[in-house]
Amino acid sequence: MDFKLLNETVERVIESTEEFKTEGNVATYIPELANVDENNFGLAIVTVDGKTILKGDTELRFSMQSISKVISLIMALEDNGTDYVFERIGCECSPYAFNHVNTITTKAANPFVNAGAISTTAMIKGRDKEEKFQRFMDRIKKLSGDQGVTFLEKVYNSEMETTDTNRALFYILRSKGIFDLEMDDVLNRYVAGCSVGVNVVNLAKIAAVLANGGKCLETGDQLVEEDYVKITLAQMFTSGMYEESGKYQMTIGFPLKSGVSGGIMGVVPGKFGICTYSPRLDATGNSLRGIKVLEGLSKELGLSLFA
Ligand code: GLU
Repeated sequence: MDFKLLNETVERVIESTEEFKTEGNVATYIPELANVDENNFGLAIVTVDGKTILKGDTELRFSMQSISKVISLIMALEDNGTDYVFERIGCECSPYAFNHVNTITTKAANPFVNAGAISTTAMIKGRDKEEKFQRFMDRIKKLSGDQGVTFLEKVYNSEMETTDTNRALFYILRSKGIFDLEMDDVLNRYVAGCSVGVNVVNLAKIAAVLANGGKCLETGDQLVEEDYVKITLAQMFTSGMYEESGKYQMTIGFPLKSGVSGGIMGVVPGKFGICTYSPRLDATGNSLRGIKVLEGLSKELGLSLFA
């Protein structure tokens, strides 16, 4: 991919989406998420050959929210294998909102609705809940090149005060025998995972490892098994943008995962990882300007996997 063309196109597309800067609303159901500058915008691209494009507020730290579900899925697969995971979680897109109880039948619809991520969180192994969460943090640090990944306690406390829907999902899943663990192990770790603070560069680096078949960009070491990369990207493709995943695969056309704090992480296999941050969301929970930027880039650079 021509780096100069990529850089110029990014600049042009960001400029052309300026008009969407004030559209949409920040999430408020987790009160601390509303405590941001609503007009912030940041973008990072990391190419598989190690080049970086940084635009806007790239240092700004925000909570991963649903983007953490990508890491939980990878770890659930690594700790238990594919069969175990998909006997207990579905792999189809859900037409329901990410925290709707209808996302559970005999099991969660997919690993990226809340019920699915509560299930993958339960599958992460460790001696106790502290070790399980430490392994989760370490995995994010390793894949993202560390650089300031941190735990955002205020976001965690804020969600713990308002997360009764997720508590309900936890109990439904446990009643169906998906796991047999205590609330403060699974649910608290799920919320803690959503509260990991990152910037767009951290997430673009994780995405770049996935774009590179799971291999470290610097050393070539296999950081994520290739089979698990394929599964993760397939799920990001089919379910990464909530119940509008299909819609955005028509206009963007590569694996994506968004979170309600305003991040969208994208993987263009063999080319680059990308992350946009803009906290104003559309009604589904996807970052409004982030979508516009990704749509613009995909169109101008022919990035759809079906192009
Ligand atoms: N922590 C959020 C929740 O459980 C994550 C939602 C999201 O980003 O989709 O509601």
